[in-house]
Amino acid sequence: MAAQTGRDSSNLVVDMVCDVCRVEGFEVEKNVQAGESESHFVDVIASRRKGDKTQKVAFECWEGDRQVNGREVEGFAHRLRSAGLPDGIYVSPKGFTGDAEFMARKFGVELWDLAKLKERVEKIKPPERHKVPGTLPVSRAVASQILAHGLENGSILRLGSMPKLEFRPYYFADFVLAQSKKKVARGVIVFDGVDGRECDAGLFEGELKNLPGSGLFLECLEIEPSTGSMPQLPPELEMKNSVTVAPATATEETVKARVAEVLLQGSNAHPDDVSVPEVSLLHIPIVTVELQTGNRSYRKILQAATGKMIWDETRKCSLCDSATSAVCEDCGAVVCHDHTRLCSSCRKHLCTGCVTIKGVINKTPLCRACHG
Ligand SMILES: [Zn+2]
Ligand SMILES: [Zn+2]
Ligand SMILES: [Zn+2]
Repeated sequence: MAAQTGRDSSNLVVDMVCDVCRVEGFEVEKNVQAGESESHFVDVIASRRKGDKTQKVAFECWEGDRQVNGREVEGFAHRLRSAGLPDGIYVSPKGFTGDAEFMARKFGVELWDLAKLKERVEKIKPPERHKVPGTLPVSRAVASQILAHGLENGSILRLGSMPKLEFRPYYFADFVLAQSKKKVARGVIVFDGVDGRECDAGLFEGELKNLPGSGLFLECLEIEPSTGSMPQLPPELEMKNSVTVAPATATEETVKARVAEVLLQGSNAHPDDVSVPEVSLLHIPIVTVELQTGNRSYRKILQAATGKMIWDETRKCSLCDSATSAVCEDCGAVVCHDHTRLCSSCRKHLCTGCVTIKGVINKTPLCRACHG
């Protein structure tokens, strides 16, 4: 987008290109600069792992009112060559001049005009005969929730790497369980669309024992999904460039079969008693972070649409099974209230393994630094 008015949030072409790439399984990086110089290099670099190789494609996105000319295509090709990038695509909804097409052939640059871009974007939209897989937005509360959450001195935990955001497919299967033609229960079971695992369940009507429910995903049904395009991310996450979309491998049919299995486990019902009137697919944002202090690191995985913690390695005391209340500022272990000491001089939180005691009578707890 050389010489454009404002490289701001309204870069429609860039956003469309990013959506197209994400759906194809690429991670995208926007407005890439050339080294330290902060000069513009290309608008988007999309990369995707294939086996042990990483495929990289560079995009230049023209949003101006005229056609892109040969000199601009040539400049793009030179930037790519100097960076050792073999694949480049120039996107211009207003089209290209004749010499731009000549240069593109000469340097092996692909050109996308409006028709080509539309064709790509159409592919993201699911065909009409399928149910539209909605995508839920990331809750604004996620950033604060995932960091210092739940520990007195949690702020000493720092991000060890960029947070990862994955839009992961989940199937919500409505079920009805009947016995001798009378409805006994109605509810929903949630399945992970990648590995087919059941991950939540809930009842709307009736009673059913042994229905597995984690409470992690059901609330997602109350959020309005967006369709056709990836939703906007909160600014804290948008800059991380590590957004992926996981492809669903489970199907409606496998999900329906699993519903019957799950329901029949817990009751003496017959397979004919189970019906699944509807299965819907939702893409739910899942954020993974690594938090570090000293040489310890803790992983947290958050269902980011409604902010439910799926996995949190900081929740269990490293010395017993109790819930944690602090991080030891000497060794980085997370510890419960009973295993936490405060240095009486500098007030640092310590674990019982790192605290030192001074004085036989008063037994003053001190950190190693204050003990001397
Ligand atoms: Zn403990
Ligand atoms: Zn310690
Ligand atoms: Zn101290």
